[in-house]
Amino acid sequence: MTSLQDRSRAAVWHPCTQMARLADLPPLPIARGEGPWLFDTEGRRYFDANASWWVNLFGHSDRALHDAIKAQLDTLPHVMLAGCTHEPAVRLAERLSARTGGALGHAFFGSDGASAVEIALKQSFHSWKNRGRPAKREFVCLKNSYHGETLGALSVTDVQVFRDAYDPLLMRAHIVASPDARLGNEAQALTAMRALLAERHAHIACVIVEPLVQGAAGMVMHSPDYLRGLRELTREFGVHLIADEIAVGCGRTGTFFAWEQTQADWPDFILLSKGITGGTMALSLVLTTDEVFDAFWSEDVTRGFLHSHSYTGNPLACAAANAVLDRFDAGQLEDNRAQAERLARAFAPLTSRMAHLRQRGMILAFDVPNAPARFAETFHLKARAHELLIRPIGSTVYLMPPYLIDDATAAFLAGAVTQTLDDLLNDVPA
Ligand SMILES: *Cc1c(COP(=O)(O)O)cnc(C)c1O
Repeated sequence: MTSLQDRSRAAVWHPCTQMARLADLPPLPIARGEGPWLFDTEGRRYFDANASWWVNLFGHSDRALHDAIKAQLDTLPHVMLAGCTHEPAVRLAERLSARTGGALGHAFFGSDGASAVEIALKQSFHSWKNRGRPAKREFVCLKNSYHGETLGALSVTDVQVFRDAYDPLLMRAHIVASPDARLGNEAQALTAMRALLAERHAHIACVIVEPLVQGAAGMVMHSPDYLRGLRELTREFGVHLIADEIAVGCGRTGTFFAWEQTQADWPDFILLSKGITGGTMALSLVLTTDEVFDAFWSEDVTRGFLHSHSYTGNPLACAAANAVLDRFDAGQLEDNRAQAERLARAFAPLTSRMAHLRQRGMILAFDVPNAPARFAETFHLKARAHELLIRPIGSTVYLMPPYLIDDATAAFLAGAVTQTLDDLLNDVPA
């Protein structure tokens, strides 16, 4: 019988993968998950250090999340959200609104992160148009930003490997210098933003930003001060600000919304996905203000936001998200702070082997100086031998683990990373 890996190679077109390379790099055949561990079909285990592409919050097979989904499954798995409504969606929207003190009191539902980005870009443009400003149709993103890979989202994404092949198809967004704590360039980044907004604000609808951590850029971090400056600039020049919290939301950086750390005015939009269902169901949300919402309020149907996805506001996904919020209501953030400190303590002794060890809550990253060619792939393969599932970005190794870090797990992670670095140095075969 052919292996699951061979069948997968023949029938499944894997994401973010050069399929021709799968012979050397066979996908791990995963059979089940339990807590932070994934188990392959042979029973070997791997610590899910990247939380299954940043979605998993409380580990795999979390009882409370599963129970919430099962209860919803027996009641109402799905109904369309146009012309109908249901308790799980209403409750979720109300609870997220409350977490912004009502500032972002209107929730539009999408199915994944990229669709949330598309929705926010369209809403920003359309709200300006409805207010008699149709010329405000340009978008601004930061250098090395990542906002997803559908054509609209890719237009505000500046990661070459994802973007270059499709460049001729994309909208021309403005790409502005991004802040990077390693370079100490936040003031310059704001100056560059000011120059662009001063010149083009009459044509610019919005700026989109990943607050505190540019994830796909390689966990590039900046301070809340930069975001405060950005909020002031976008207000001064009458431009919307979209906080893409798809990766950094849901407690990942130490507060429920990363934006809370700025203590500035709320942005005009916040996007959530990934962690919002704890890694169980596909769901995204676009939260926005009365001001944006009111621009669509009219007797004229075409002034409304006539956008939809079939699974919009799926009740199973909303039930999962409500169960995630229950955890935060019950003190998850305090627990995360203790977990983040454990990670920091476990990795502190290793600083001599790494450059720019940096951390924001439950994201820890470092750069590997003089990394060999194809470092990310090699590190990933060698780490598997140490029960660690991890996917570096370029020469940056990062942990974005489920929120299950006790002292033993923190020590395990630091040990497995160290052993993998040793193997790499000594060229031990994977
Ligand atoms: C993952 C991600 C997206 C895209 O979400 P998908 O669900 O993968 O489409 C957008 N923005 C950020 C910051 C992300 O990390």
